[in-house]
Amino acid sequence: MMIGFIGLGIMGKPMAKNLLKAGYSLTVNDLNKDAVAEVVSCGAVSAPSAKEVAAVSDIVLTMLPNSPHVKQVVLGEGGVIESMKEGTILVDMSSISPIVSQEVSAALAKKGIVMFDAPVSGGEPKAVDGTLAIMVGGPEASFAKVEDILKVMGGSVTLVGEIGSGNITKLANQIMVAANIAGMSEALVLATKANVDPEKVYRAIRGGLAGSTVLDAKAPLVLHGNFKPGFRIDLHIKDLQNALDTASSLETPAPISKTVIDMMKTLSAEGKGSDDHGGLIQWYEKEAKI
Ligand code: NAD
Repeated sequence: MMIGFIGLGIMGKPMAKNLLKAGYSLTVNDLNKDAVAEVVSCGAVSAPSAKEVAAVSDIVLTMLPNSPHVKQVVLGEGGVIESMKEGTILVDMSSISPIVSQEVSAALAKKGIVMFDAPVSGGEPKAVDGTLAIMVGGPEASFAKVEDILKVMGGSVTLVGEIGSGNITKLANQIMVAANIAGMSEALVLATKANVDPEKVYRAIRGGLAGSTVLDAKAPLVLHGNFKPGFRIDLHIKDLQNALDTASSLETPAPISKTVIDMMKTLSAEGKGSDDHGGLIQWYEKEAKI
């Protein structure tokens, strides 16, 4: 079984290394030569283009920033579609628009290539540990062919539905995380402005109904002004834009995503786009003049 891996960034690099550790043969490609060299030093073979990765692979995995990158690497000039053989499989693990996942899948299907969208949650630490939450969309009949590979990178691998369902699930995840961070920021700044110690507010409420994974992950950091990423505000803007585009195409309301993306865009325009998304509290602090 030959695996291709395209996109060796913060997430893709440790994911590729885990596949090598598990004994899979990997052919890799990235625009960043240093990232390629690092994964080659762990046992991968490099190929000069996406097309050449696909030519020698039974299954191609992609871990790229957003929809345009996936379209370019899969369907563009020198893309994997030019050399993938009938019966091979593409698993796109990037967080992209579900509509684009469906478009790319339809183009691949014309050549007899199966596609899964399999975005992840958990960030770099879980990519390193191989314990990502992986949410998958695609044909149940072919799932067994990719499940073991995904389990090397994931602590949980869930087939949610047809192609696009993986990225719908990821958008659901990102909407809820955004809403949680905004609610936490609104609450802690209110407490601060009322001269109530926000650290004590956090400790008082974390065991109750307002307690959450997001609160425990972010409150201890933002209360100390630590906005080191983690997950960058600019990446969350990308996900919320995909959520808004999808909501619009489905004629479903998304006022929370709209409010939070506007706050995040304001911060990004002020040069804070590379702060962790917990840095959203800075929008409230500025408005509250604290
Ligand atoms: P990244 O920017 O670190 O990595 C992307 C990689 O893709 C880069 O190495 C880049 O050189 C490469 N690339 C871009 N265009 C290319 C092309 N045409 N050909 C070959 N390589 C190309 O991004 P990341 O943090 O690894 O995130 C990847 C995806 O995973 C994104 O969709 C992101 O939203 C998602 N994600 C990220 C995190 C996180 O915490 N960073 C968590 C969960 C999901």
